[in-house]
Amino acid sequence: MDNTPFHILGAGLSGLSAATILANAGKEVHVYDVRKDSGARFDGDFQGIENWTSAPDFFDEMKQWGLKPDYFKSNSFDVVDLAHPDDVITRPKTESIAFRVVERGTDEHCIDQGMKRMAIEAGVKIHYGVRKSPDECDIIAAGPKESSAVAFGEIFHTDHPNHVTLQLNDKLAPGAYSYLIIIDGIGLICTCLWRKQKKSSRYLNETIAWYEDRYELNRKPIKRVGGKGDFSLPKKYVHKGRYYVGEAGGLQDFMWGFGMRYAITSGVLAAKGILGECNYELEIRKRLIPLVKSSATNRFLLNRIGDRGFKLAARYWMWDQKRKGDGLAFLRWLYSPGIFRKLLWPIVKLSMLKKKELPDGRVVNHMPFRKALKRDIWEQSPAALEIGKQWDRVRKSGAHLSFTESDT
Ligand SMILES: Cc1cc2nc3c(=O)[nH]c(=O)nc-3n(C[C@H](O)[C@H](O)[C@H](O)COP(=O)(O)OP(=O)(O)OC[C@H]3O[C@@H](n4cnc5c(N)ncnc54)[C@H](O)[C@@H]3O)c2cc1C
Repeated sequence: MDNTPFHILGAGLSGLSAATILANAGKEVHVYDVRKDSGARFDGDFQGIENWTSAPDFFDEMKQWGLKPDYFKSNSFDVVDLAHPDDVITRPKTESIAFRVVERGTDEHCIDQGMKRMAIEAGVKIHYGVRKSPDECDIIAAGPKESSAVAFGEIFHTDHPNHVTLQLNDKLAPGAYSYLIIIDGIGLICTCLWRKQKKSSRYLNETIAWYEDRYELNRKPIKRVGGKGDFSLPKKYVHKGRYYVGEAGGLQDFMWGFGMRYAITSGVLAAKGILGECNYELEIRKRLIPLVKSSATNRFLLNRIGDRGFKLAARYWMWDQKRKGDGLAFLRWLYSPGIFRKLLWPIVKLSMLKKKELPDGRVVNHMPFRKALKRDIWEQSPAALEIGKQWDRVRKSGAHLSFTESDT
């Protein structure tokens, strides 16, 4: 038996998935992470694992691969509140599972820690706080490098029942969306900025004010969190013998930033590629790249439409649900390549993405962080100013702020 050890850079979702598959196949695997623990890039944020870009239920897919979704806490949702730009709220729903909410971070029930336990049980050796050169690694799973978009959120105590709202609103979340997630007494209100802003906390304050006005939250702030997303399409996924997975490989959802499913899937496929069970490059191009390209085309359109387009999209979503009896059908359609998106792709590539060479020699088409627009400058409402002051008080009393403008 070949006893060559495998080395993986990054103990996040993609790196740990790859490590577990390799170790389950009897390989010696070492994973290196610059941070002190898996999930330390996050701070208790809720994230949704989508169930719409591919037909099989994602947890069934994970089980088929030998991964164990019951190693971390998750809450399934089949319905959300959809807040249109004119504040109308409707309810897309499905008979199956639309998505599952998981927590990111270093607490035991977080997905990062579940994946870590799975890897360790399989025999993987994880080395935290270690800076390893990518040249010495077989799989690069080091997450995002640059910022194409950012998200800022506040985590709080609440007595509101479990709930998710998705809001399309170009003022509160420039070019993107905001969300409210409540799981077992803990809430997260987050706004995503797809245009780069100064004084970004005003977006979060105003977004919180919007949600407080509509939901009985009884909000008691705990901490503020956030992070960046890196959106780029590389020319190759295997470069100089190294396999690039997850966000380090540009495998992200350009439209919403739902990168977890791609991260785990690409980690598994890279391991299978190394084990000779598939051709990683081909498999990524067949399974994930059409989805990534569709999401990039949708992003291109979203960048152009503003609130009027968001309103039309939200209305069309509800009309489609009425017709087909399933709110997920619209989301599946958004990610299906189709002739229109295929025709648009050359324009998207030319006008939205910028070709660049990375320090490791890879050539990627990167989506730069868009500049702010004139309409992004507005005065905060009195309620938002009060929320900002409340956060200042909570922060001074020791609350944690894990992501700021300077991290972008
Ligand atoms: C605020 C926010 C909200 C999000 N919400 C969602 C959501 O709702 N749904 C969803 O699907 N996705 C969401 N995403 C995206 C999702 O988190 C990522 O796409 C996913 O975690 C990518 O997995 P990964 O394995 O590529 O990277 P990660 O899981 O981030 O892991 C990368 C690891 O590499 C380590 N690392 C970095 N540099 C080095 C280095 N030089 N050497 C060694 N190790 C290194 C890091 O410490 C980290 O542990 C969100 C992202 C953010 C920032």
